[in-house]
Amino acid sequence: MSWSQRIAQALIARRTSGQYRQRHLSEQGDARSLRVAGQDFTHFSGNDYLGLSHDARIIDAWQQGAAHYGVGAGGSAHVTGYRTPQAELESELADWLGYDRSLLFISGFAANQAVIAAMMAKNDRILADKLCHASLLEAATLSPATLRRFAHNQPASLATLLAGNKSGETLVVTEGIFSMDGDRAPLAELHRLSQLQGGWLLVDDAHGVGVCGEQGRGSCWQQRVKPELLIVTFGKAFGVSGAALLCNDDTAEYLLQFARHLIYSTAMPPAQACAIRAALDCIRQGDGLREQLTANIHYFRQQAETLPWSLGASDSAIQPLMVGDEQAALMLSQRLREQGCWVTAIRPPTVPPGTSRLRITLSAAHRISDIDRLLEALHAANR
Ligand SMILES: *Cc1c(COP(=O)(O)O)cnc(C)c1O
Repeated sequence: MSWSQRIAQALIARRTSGQYRQRHLSEQGDARSLRVAGQDFTHFSGNDYLGLSHDARIIDAWQQGAAHYGVGAGGSAHVTGYRTPQAELESELADWLGYDRSLLFISGFAANQAVIAAMMAKNDRILADKLCHASLLEAATLSPATLRRFAHNQPASLATLLAGNKSGETLVVTEGIFSMDGDRAPLAELHRLSQLQGGWLLVDDAHGVGVCGEQGRGSCWQQRVKPELLIVTFGKAFGVSGAALLCNDDTAEYLLQFARHLIYSTAMPPAQACAIRAALDCIRQGDGLREQLTANIHYFRQQAETLPWSLGASDSAIQPLMVGDEQAALMLSQRLREQGCWVTAIRPPTVPPGTSRLRITLSAAHRISDIDRLLEALHAANR
């Protein structure tokens, strides 16, 4: 088989299985609305949970940062790319979340790859929740450690795996709030079990940080758990982009020696760190935004009770509307679009077969009238 044949065959297989993915070009968009091909949609597919991506204070911080530091870091942090804004952001994050240190990464995906690649060795094991994000599972698969997956949010299943053979170190991996289901991990129990075996817990709180816990400190703070490794990302509630690992002093020093994504990659632009610092201020003072988001979630769930589809067991901004069949999910997403609402259908392999869904996400920026519009569109799509 030639390269061309291999590529063509893979594309055909994707199309026939109903899993073909397409990007949609949008001219404009914020937490509430999206303009695609000249048409305005009410938007329920973003991760801009607090509506910060267009916040004037954060935009201003980025612009001023760019004027002062330039638009790029100019090099890896190990060479000359590490400036005051990144250093200050790192120490602010560590103080805020109660850790010795934090290290910035260019994205959550890169952070997960870097941390898992640098930590894991042969004979180690990674015990991960079955529904963990692709960036975690992919990193685990590529690492020399053995990957075993435990049943979603079931500590008893983790306990069974923990009791199995062990020669090297154990890393237990979960998310704070699951990205496709919106439910929360039982962090205290997972942490307790992992500690019993001398394991470390890594929590990826991409969807929890900013939106839950006191001052928006996230799922771990809310559940009073301090995992050894905590990943937070800035592309969701922070409205920007980038990520950080929170850890102890030695682990930070270790990763500065061994995490290739830190050493061989251009550092986060200082101007972006300025924007993230401004977003952090908004988040710390963001109780009003979090209350608004909670009110929107309650309103939506209450009103959705009369719909013929069930919602996942989620009290977070992520509200999965379970459809099941892939084509049916695509069709429903299309019908909603005809009614002016943008909601993406999520299909395998992102979610397990037979659990295709609409991943509805709510933001503090949504008005009640936006949510009513979505509910009316769902009722209309069912007629
Ligand atoms: C979005 C997401 C990531 C990736 O973060 P990026 O900064 O977008 O690369 C990682 N983990 C989880 C759980 C996510 O939802």
